[in-house]
Amino acid sequence: MNDIAGDIVARVAGVLPRGGAFALHEPEFRGNEEAYVAECIRTGWVSTAGAFVGRFEAALADYTGAKTVVAVNTGTAALHACLHVLDVGPQDEVLVPSLTFIATANAVSYTGATPHLVDVDEATLGVDPARLEAYLRDIAEVTDGGCRNRASGRRIAALVVMHCFGHPADLDSLVALCERWNIALVEDAAESLGSFYRGTHTGRMGRIASLSFNGNKTVTTGGGGAILCEDAELGRRVRHLVTTARIADGWEFSHDSVGFNYRMPNINAALGLAQLERFPGMRQNKRRLAERYLAAFEGCNTAQVFREPAQTESNYWLNALVLAPEAGEFRDQVLDALRAAGYHCRPAWKPMHMLPMYAGSPRMDLAATESLHRRVINLPSSPFLADIQ
Ligand SMILES: *Cc1c(COP(=O)(O)O)cnc(C)c1O
Repeated sequence: MNDIAGDIVARVAGVLPRGGAFALHEPEFRGNEEAYVAECIRTGWVSTAGAFVGRFEAALADYTGAKTVVAVNTGTAALHACLHVLDVGPQDEVLVPSLTFIATANAVSYTGATPHLVDVDEATLGVDPARLEAYLRDIAEVTDGGCRNRASGRRIAALVVMHCFGHPADLDSLVALCERWNIALVEDAAESLGSFYRGTHTGRMGRIASLSFNGNKTVTTGGGGAILCEDAELGRRVRHLVTTARIADGWEFSHDSVGFNYRMPNINAALGLAQLERFPGMRQNKRRLAERYLAAFEGCNTAQVFREPAQTESNYWLNALVLAPEAGEFRDQVLDALRAAGYHCRPAWKPMHMLPMYAGSPRMDLAATESLHRRVINLPSSPFLADIQ
């Protein structure tokens, strides 16, 4: 084993003992999860009409401060609905970071629009506003119909920002950029429940946002997602859209447009409500675990643990070890050594432009994305690890 990998394993072992088996992120069910799910089964209310759905939405609205919260069955569905309700369609392009989970780009594809890949900032891991601004000056113009890509002739309808590993992107700059260019800002806040930008919960500064409650997220409903929205009318429309566009019509099934069957079942919401009841403590534990990793890598010149950007408070969904540029070539050796020692670490996602279906997508220079892809390793981040000695 080379010295770099050995040193990194030793530092991680200072946080999590050797000889264990540490998953990247495990769900934690220590509250009312079993009781609430059992209640669904006992009462027969297992599907989308049960009372836990409304209670889960209310608890989320309370925690995030969002005006409208609509619970749906996956984070991917939430993002698709966000784009659809903004009238994004086949004639459009949508700016998305190349460094993201596949759902961000796929949700754009489902609308028929073209994902247009943009680079991230190493300081936030989110979309880089300064470089995006310079890029738009090169390729785009603002017209009466919105922002237009001069080369393709298509409208650039939206920018989806993603709060990577829970760390908020530079939202003030991105909001201002979207205003200048007449582009709708959408937040893929799948990873950032419990993350705040200057005191505002992520997902509240764009026009509309999505959350995910997949099994590996900080709060899980098994599978699930939610839409957050500040605009009451847009919120009403998106709720209707994901409820099969159903309208009240006596006993008859009646629908006024092509909607989606995306609502969250009660059984999932029951699990989620129990999770939310304990969420402040889980978030605290995740932040304490991050502090321990940060301390363990102090003074290390081959790798640093990513720290929340200035003016933000992160949920530290997944802790990220960022190798120094000259250590990037050892990423896979470090990963092998960590996994051999029981730490089930993973690299960041393969960037979208390196996948066959998005290799031909329009894109700006993606130097930071490519560099981070070579250098990021996610560390075990389950909340209960904060107290392991
Ligand atoms: C988890 C995640 C999603 C949504 O995933 P689902 O499994 O559909 O809930 C979307 N975007 C990002 C960046 C994610 O990490």
